[in-house]
Amino acid sequence: MTPAGDAHAVLRDVFGFDSFRGQQGEIVDQVIAGNDCLVLMPTGGGKSLCYQLPALCRDGVAVVVSPLIALMRDQVSALRQFGVRAAALNSTLSFAEAGRVEAAMRTGDLDLVYVAPERLLTEPFLELLDDCRLSLFAIDEAHCVSQWGHDFRPEYRQLTVLHERFTDVPRIALTATADAPTRKDIVERLDLAGARMFVAGFDRPNIRYRVAAKQNPRAQLQRFIAEEHEGEAGIVYCLSRAKVEETAHWLANQGHPAIAYHAGLEKHERAARQDRFLKEDGVIVVATIAFGMGIDKPDVRFVAHLDLPKSMEAYYQETGRAGRDGLPADAWMVYGLQDVVKLRQMAEMSDAPEQQKRVERQKLDALLGYCETTRCRRQVLLEYFGDRLPAPCGNCDICLTPPESFDGTVAAQKALSCVYRTGQRFGAGHVIDVLLGGATERIRRLGHDRLSTYDIGGELSRDEWRSVFRQLVAMGLLVVDVAGHGGLRLGQGARDVLRGDREVSLRKETVRRKAAATVARGRAVLEDPDDQALFQALRAKRMELAKAQGVPPYVIFHDSTLAEMARQRPAGLDAFAQLPGVGQSKLTRYGAAFLDVIGAHMPVEAGGA
Ligand code: ADP
Ligand code: ZN
Repeated sequence: MTPAGDAHAVLRDVFGFDSFRGQQGEIVDQVIAGNDCLVLMPTGGGKSLCYQLPALCRDGVAVVVSPLIALMRDQVSALRQFGVRAAALNSTLSFAEAGRVEAAMRTGDLDLVYVAPERLLTEPFLELLDDCRLSLFAIDEAHCVSQWGHDFRPEYRQLTVLHERFTDVPRIALTATADAPTRKDIVERLDLAGARMFVAGFDRPNIRYRVAAKQNPRAQLQRFIAEEHEGEAGIVYCLSRAKVEETAHWLANQGHPAIAYHAGLEKHERAARQDRFLKEDGVIVVATIAFGMGIDKPDVRFVAHLDLPKSMEAYYQETGRAGRDGLPADAWMVYGLQDVVKLRQMAEMSDAPEQQKRVERQKLDALLGYCETTRCRRQVLLEYFGDRLPAPCGNCDICLTPPESFDGTVAAQKALSCVYRTGQRFGAGHVIDVLLGGATERIRRLGHDRLSTYDIGGELSRDEWRSVFRQLVAMGLLVVDVAGHGGLRLGQGARDVLRGDREVSLRKETVRRKAAATVARGRAVLEDPDDQALFQALRAKRMELAKAQGVPPYVIFHDSTLAEMARQRPAGLDAFAQLPGVGQSKLTRYGAAFLDVIGAHMPVEAGGA
């Protein structure tokens, strides 16, 4: 392709997009002008375009440093679909194949080449670069340079050699991780003090955040998937391998295409399962946190947590894998007090030094606060990362169905005093039994039916009491005792409540169960059933085309493009070219095939109309 000078023309003709998103335009201008940039943008923000487009506008080949082979492969096949001359150089290539790529770099027949840092840094490769005309260096996943990040890669530190050896070639470093220490590290370690920094907000507006109390987690999950995400791709996170296996098995028995993924599986088995998730439509992966890094799949419609993540950072990162394509997606979580106990125990029992344990405790507290908040979840989440959202978001469970609160002072007093009277060593289950006047063997054996707090809690149901206890823990009025068996004891401030010096406002639980149902209703990609039927036919065509080439379906067209196709029903190639996500190359390759599907589509009877 002849590089066109005009970035907008390339955006339209190659990528098929009408306009830049957020700061993309400015970033692209900077790089085209030959300046260094540091780009901090959330997942799904559109980072790749920030270097792919300048690569096409500047002379020579762009060298993209990327740490993960799977990611490279995905990006290269996506670029080729756009008609861009891209290749990856990594250990999976044969000697001859690598030789061909290197020759193409020398002769200027490649627009972009992806390489792993260890290869880039070898002297032969640097000598090869001496012989090439270079348009730019892109350093993807730049947080790998930092020890603070979670994916430290020592080779990244030597990437300063690029700057020293190829002084005139602009560099663009990109990452989705941008807490202050990591950011500072990137600038220092990559010698980017002179670079322009672009920091995008961390909001992911298309993700709907929801947290519900854990009652019957599997049934809750099953209902969530059946009612809202039938046939759609998703990730379900669990804490342990055993639970991953069980849950996947169970979902599969319920008729969902679910597969398990965890670090206990053989490497090739993991790769095969990941590949299936990428290449088939609508697969659900049930996984431990081992799954996700390097997953670029844009159409993950939900991320569900059956267990609490370790921190807000982990929650943000894991839920962030939903909805990269910008279409509506769900971050859904159920949690119970037992989860808190488990995580606290795990943290306490580790060999980590005391200081680190303290940090972990604080992180878990922040997460708990998020779970039990009565404010807009997005506001709480973003504030944690130092971002501010001026108004409630309107797209989280709290905004959609504001929880009712009630004066919970008396309930709190009963709960706290029952914890005190039973000796501050039992979990919520037993204390609630006592409050509800239960006749368990344990109550009888311990004589807890003779306590003054026995059978004084009849005004609330068991679920409501559970909610009260969770909220009291989140407020710090109750503390989980990890040294023992996760019993509860009074926390700071509990005495003030017991003495009547402090009022406690609590959230009502019953309302929240109804709320979940209201939130759930009606969020299909397309509202018209006939459009939806055509959309499914278009997806089937896409699958067929993808299978024939051995690429993931989304590199052919995104769901958003197919949805527009179903809505607008272009009648010819000219109209087809106007769809978002349709550039020259895809128009030529696929226009006719999809127009055939549209032409052959028989309208679905609209009932009664
Ligand atoms: P990131 O690397 O930041 O996670 P990607 O580069 O994968 O994000 O982009 C996320 C999605 O947004 C991709 O599917 C991409 O096609 C789409 N996208 C990027 N830029 C634009 C744009 N200007 N207009 C429309 N869609 C875009
Ligand atoms: Zn909100």
